[in-house]
Amino acid sequence: MNQDSNGTNCNSGELALQRLRAGNLRFVSGDTHVPTLETDLLDQQAKGQEPYATILGCSDSRVPPELIFDAWLGELFVIRVAGNVLGPSILGTLQYAAVHLHTPLFVVMGHEGCGAVHAAISYKFEGMRQADRIEALLENIVPAIEGIDPSACEDTQMNIAVEANVRRTVRQLAGSPEGQKQLANGVKIVGAVYELHTGRVRFLENAGETEQRTPVKIEL
Ligand SMILES: [Zn+2]
Repeated sequence: MNQDSNGTNCNSGELALQRLRAGNLRFVSGDTHVPTLETDLLDQQAKGQEPYATILGCSDSRVPPELIFDAWLGELFVIRVAGNVLGPSILGTLQYAAVHLHTPLFVVMGHEGCGAVHAAISYKFEGMRQADRIEALLENIVPAIEGIDPSACEDTQMNIAVEANVRRTVRQLAGSPEGQKQLANGVKIVGAVYELHTGRVRFLENAGETEQRTPVKIEL
């Protein structure tokens, strides 16, 4: 699964990233490759998995990574949680992907219009309360949106918050001792934002290093 048609080992983060980009382009263009069920492929799948990327995404019903990246069974190791935040079980699952599956690429994928991020903004700046377990979840998002301008328009706040939330999670992963070890071994950890209106995935450059906290001012 991690070899190309020439039998060359493609088990690298960069090639895995190219594969995700190509899959998303097929998804956007309506030229998907995902086949219908084939029993011989299922027999092959039953022998084990060798996914080429791990995706930490949001539970939102509109952002299933397998469809977005035109990937079939066994190709992506997917973790989904509202707001694509970390937590003990999520970290354990990511560690499993690193230690046992050796995926060369880890993607933290947020999305436009994320309800969890929106709820975190309302919770932080307007004191909007939620049920206790939801608030516990939102507490994981709040640190990412601390610097957002409360007077900015909602769309601007959301765009900045979604990206900041992704960047924070990437920084947490990349900055951990285990993340550092993975990076030293050539593993890639990248951030991404799915655009609801276009179906495109925008990969964030240097998501683990930089942080956008203020609205971009557009000169007219
Ligand atoms: Zn969401």
